[in-house]
Amino acid sequence: MITDPGVNEYINSLSADLPEYLDRLEVYAEEHHVPIIRKEAQNLLCFLIREKKPSNILEIGTAIGFSAQLMASVSDAHVTTIEKVEMRLKEARKNIAQSPVGDRITLVEGDALKVLEDFKGPFDFVFLDAAKGQYLNFLPHIMRLMEKGALLVTDNVLQEGSLAGSKFAVERRDRTIHMRMREFLYHITHTDELDTVILPVGDGMALSRKL
Ligand code: SAH
Ligand code: MG
Repeated sequence: MITDPGVNEYINSLSADLPEYLDRLEVYAEEHHVPIIRKEAQNLLCFLIREKKPSNILEIGTAIGFSAQLMASVSDAHVTTIEKVEMRLKEARKNIAQSPVGDRITLVEGDALKVLEDFKGPFDFVFLDAAKGQYLNFLPHIMRLMEKGALLVTDNVLQEGSLAGSKFAVERRDRTIHMRMREFLYHITHTDELDTVILPVGDGMALSRKL
């Protein structure tokens, strides 16, 4: 947790209840250690979607379909979501098939780096929530697929806050992920093509608008 746990708990205690089918999935994720979007980040994501009213949402990183259903539940948008791990896909297929908003969700199976090549878009909202070391590689695809004014929300950009700490305080593997994440964050905050703000919400979220 990046923010004070007490502050976080208090903020989350004010959250509106989730619909029952999402509540159940959130509990399942917790029990099975599936890293779904945290409560405080859910609230921000939903707020942005209600404000933006997108019609075509792209999600990279479905896991078991929690956030895809969450985004569909607060919009009229169609959600296209990509996942590559079979174990997760199995759950995602089942959950989306049973979902009250499942008819507005398309699950695309495969490595996003590969399948995005064939995507045409345009999308007016993108939720990037996949392998943290690959964010920079996804970016050219995302830039091509986003229309002007589209929002990009990127999750887990501060890695529990450790990203801002000393690069020697973390494991070698994490150091590589951190280096790549820093490069990604530098890029999205310095390119002329995006307007970006980074927030210490959840595990760190970056909000970018395509200019
Ligand atoms: N968005 C989900 C959580 C996603 S967890 C939610 O909040 O409910 C991240 C997921 O991204 C994992 O299931 C992982 O398998 C998937 N992933 C990682 N790299 C990927 C890639 N290159 N292509 C497709 N999926 C990927
Ligand atoms: Mg995440």
